[in-house]
Amino acid sequence: MASIFSKIINGEIPCYKIAEDEDYFSFLDINPIAEGHTLVIPKKEVDYVFDLPDETLHGLISFSKKIARGIDSALGTIRTGVIVEGLEVPHAHIHLIPIYFEGQPVSLGRKSEIQESRMKEIASLISKAVEL
Ligand code: AMP
Repeated sequence: MASIFSKIINGEIPCYKIAEDEDYFSFLDINPIAEGHTLVIPKKEVDYVFDLPDETLHGLISFSKKIARGIDSALGTIRTGVIVEGLEVPHAHIHLIPIYFEGQPVSLGRKSEIQESRMKEIASLISKAVEL
């Protein structure tokens, strides 16, 4: 069965899309730990990130860098952090976490709700700032 992220890629489930190219896709995490918390995934569905072929893993990192640059520029972060966990959704993904101040808690356990209108706004801001 296709993962929830494959369904997002295929447009069967809505998302706050940031960007995509032929091999990678990026969208806001629905339960963000900070405004602009973004997921980056390979379109090829593989559960464990370190089971990805080297070429796909390298491409995932390069694509994530472009998205992180967009986050930094759009949201005025001090930098963007990276978390890879993958215990909830069996489709390899990288969490990009905007960091706005030193000491900001960065842990996947601390999720918050952000209004739909603000999520749309954030996705649009990041999307416009990303240079693929
Ligand atoms: P993990 O597998 O633990 O690295 O985390 C999976 C992440 O996917 C969690 O942070 C979820 O909030 C997020 N997530 C699950 N379903 C969706 C969805 N439909 N749209 C966006 N993010 C999602």
